[in-house]
Amino acid sequence: KAQAVVEEAARGRLETLAFDREHLWHPYTSMTEPAPVRLVTGARGCELEVDGRWVVDGMSSWWAAIHGYRHPVLDAAVRDQVERFSHVMFGGLTHEPAVTLGRRLVDVTPTGLERVFLADSGSVSVEVAVKMALQYQRGIGRPERRKLLTVRGGYHGDTFHPMSVTDPDGGMHTMWSGLLPEQVFAQVPPRAGAGTGHLESWMLALERQVVRRRDELAAIIVEPLLQGAGGMRHYDSECLRVMRDLADEHGLLLIFDEIATGFGRTGHLFVSELVTPDILCLGKALTGGYLSLAAVLTKDAVARGISGSESGVVMHGPTFMGNPMACAVATASIDLLLASDWPSRVASINERLATGLEPLQELPGVKDVRTVGAVGVVQLDHPVDVVAATDAAVAAGVWLRPFRDLIYTMPPYVIADEELDRLLHGITEAVKAG
Ligand code: PMP
Repeated sequence: KAQAVVEEAARGRLETLAFDREHLWHPYTSMTEPAPVRLVTGARGCELEVDGRWVVDGMSSWWAAIHGYRHPVLDAAVRDQVERFSHVMFGGLTHEPAVTLGRRLVDVTPTGLERVFLADSGSVSVEVAVKMALQYQRGIGRPERRKLLTVRGGYHGDTFHPMSVTDPDGGMHTMWSGLLPEQVFAQVPPRAGAGTGHLESWMLALERQVVRRRDELAAIIVEPLLQGAGGMRHYDSECLRVMRDLADEHGLLLIFDEIATGFGRTGHLFVSELVTPDILCLGKALTGGYLSLAAVLTKDAVARGISGSESGVVMHGPTFMGNPMACAVATASIDLLLASDWPSRVASINERLATGLEPLQELPGVKDVRTVGAVGVVQLDHPVDVVAATDAAVAAGVWLRPFRDLIYTMPPYVIADEELDRLLHGITEAVKAG
């Protein structure tokens, strides 16, 4: 009888995978040549049950699950809210979970960021931020300022404005060039530790660009300190100061996309603590990875500028704006983070990743190894064989998702030292296979 149950379960899994293969799109995949996917049947702590085997999650479900999975406090936050009410429209109504989260976000982000728009995903928050910046310029009588300045190598999401500020040459959305709003691209900022010479020449080039295009530019938008899906580059924080000064001098707004870097990932609760932007986008780890939610915070001056535009309102209002369950779990996640000693945890993850990844520098095919906060990156000198690298990682008990020439990790902050060691072993195996 036990045998029959096992066989039935195996058949069920195969059927699930077969239907998935026939009918479901996954991120960045083709329907006719689907990339292999594995079946997840459980998640707890820092582990995922993948194809029937528990593996350490090196990805935090793309930067999001900072507290790991099935955290009792976060589970309870969702459960408690669903027992009150699940979703209600935000037009003409408000509720305690949204207000509490709004208050928390205003409190934990740098002073001055005090108007909050609760969007439903990271890309939408970038769309909203861009609309706000353009509307602000119209509101203060500069409607011709419609373009964004950004840096090469960036990535801001997959909808149209975010795609338009993703590097058009070789970036993820190159195929859309010509159809996207045309933006202004500055050079990739110099990497952290590159030296003052590099910084100065970058600064001068940026300044020339801003001065030349000033009358068209509404805002500068960047991922501060760490570029994510555009190449996992860690750059000099002084660049942010330069952007702030140029924005102030030339009447541009400064937008920081901290969807990936927010909530402690780089060792700062927000990189915006180093330099305060006018508009800040948050997402991913906002809910501890439990539900889809993002937030756009702005200075009051931005809100007032928008009020001066022709409509006077922010013309954006997604159906699931301020979803109460997402807001409740976001507040619980922020409180959990702040109650923990996350700075030392992130610092200790950094130390272990740096020490553990350094020897990989000697492996054939490895071009660079770098870490920042709780992020570790191995850059190869060739495109990763994603299937081979992923297979090797899973065989070593680790979940990774390499892309282009990068094998990288951003584990949950609660990862145990023993799990980190497994993770490092999995990365090593992935590098050798990829
Ligand atoms: N900006 C950055 C920096 C990101 O890493 C992402 C995540 N892919 C986004 C924007 C888009 O967020 P989402 O996937 O939630 O739309």
